[in-house]
Formats: sequence, structure tokens, C-alpha cells
Amino acid sequence: MPNIDQLKALKQYLDEKNAQLIAVSKTKTVKDIREVYDAGQRVFGENRVQEMVEKQGELPNDIEWHLIGHLQTNKVKYMASFVALVHSVDSLKLLEEVNKQAIKHGRVIDCLLQMHIAEESSKFGLNEAELKELLESEAFRLMSNVRIVGLMGMATFTDDEEQLRSEFKHLKGIFDRTKSAYFANRRYFKDISMGMSGDYELAVAEGSTMVRVGSLIFGSR
Ligand SMILES: *Cc1c(COP(=O)(O)O)cnc(C)c1O
Repeated sequence: MPNIDQLKALKQYLDEKNAQLIAVSKTKTVKDIREVYDAGQRVFGENRVQEMVEKQGELPNDIEWHLIGHLQTNKVKYMASFVALVHSVDSLKLLEEVNKQAIKHGRVIDCLLQMHIAEESSKFGLNEAELKELLESEAFRLMSNVRIVGLMGMATFTDDEEQLRSEFKHLKGIFDRTKSAYFANRRYFKDISMGMSGDYELAVAEGSTMVRVGSLIFGSR
């Protein structure tokens, strides 16, 4: 059951900090999402393409759907007609496929590049050298239908505040360097997607502009 009071308190907190709420609805029912929608939330995040596509078909059209989980190239086509933001682009190959599908649908798809900031080796994402290589590639320069609007990162699963803080600072540092080197006068390059239910306050304090919060709103999964 969604906690609407929690949602409202979180929304107010984030509004004051100029950060956006992505309500992470993975594994939750259409009924639960509808309840959160009725309380005013319009931006939802899913980590599986198939699940997002099914829910999108059953819920109102003014929902902004964000894909936040690891994305396989062969799944891009299923969501290309409607996805509002892809948080998890972690290779040139994947970005090329998003561009190709965006062209097919006559739209520009906004993307974040996912950076590896966690200590664990299991998490997906680029390092700073790979990011640079992607942004400087001829292939990227030729892409007409994707727009890179910022960076995303997932911190280590820990309650060590100092570690979380340093991982968030690391992502903010990469963002600032990338902004000045490649997107200096591009106003659309502005988002840092970091922070979840357990660490969103720290993330916001370190410069997050988008938090991806699931269990705090929808209850545990
Ligand atoms: C599930 C998920 C979240 C939300 O996690 P909570 O701890 O439930 O807030 C955020 N980001 C990604 C990429 C996720 O897969």
C-alpha cells in the first residue's frame, strides 16, 4: 500500500531543494500506481522494459515514464514511442540503438549516462575515461535523436554515510567536469540522478537533481 503522507512530505522536501521525484513503481500494481498518481505524482520509474510497457498501456497518458534499470539493446524498440527519460545508458552501442529507435518514431529521446560510482564491481556504469571516449566519438557526434541531459549513478548498498557522501561527491565532480568540457552552454545538460529511499537526503545535499525513490512511497518489495 502506498504511503500518501510520506509521498507528500517527500515532495515538499524535494520542491524546497529543487530536486525532482521519480517514484519507483517496479513490482507494484497498476492500482498502487494509480493511487500515487491520484495524489498528484506524474513521474514514475521502472527497471524492466516489459513491465513498464504493460503499465504504460493501462495508466493515464500524462505520466512520464523513466527507465531506470539496466537496459538491453534488443528491448529499446518496445519503449521508444513513449519513454521520457532513460537513466541507464552505459555504452555507445546502447545509445546508438536508442538513437536509431528515436529516429523511427520521429522523436528525440532524453538520456542520462550511467556512471559507475559504487565500490561493488557488480553495478553497471561507465568510468570517467569511458565517458570521455563516448562523448568524443564520431559516432556520438552524428547522433541526431538522443539528447544527453545529465548523469546517473547508484551508490554502494551501505549505511556508511561517509562512503555514500564520497560516492555522491564523486558523481557531482564528474558532472561538473563534463558540463564544462562538453556541455558548457547547453542548458539541457543539468541533471544528476542519484539517491534512493535510504540515502536521498545525502544525495540531495551533494547535488542530486533527481531522486529515485521506491520503497519509501510504495512500501517494501
Ligand atoms: C529499485 C531502484 C530504486 C529505488 O529503490 P528504493 O530503495 O526502493 O527507493 C532506485 N534506482 C534504481 C536503479 C532501482 O532499481
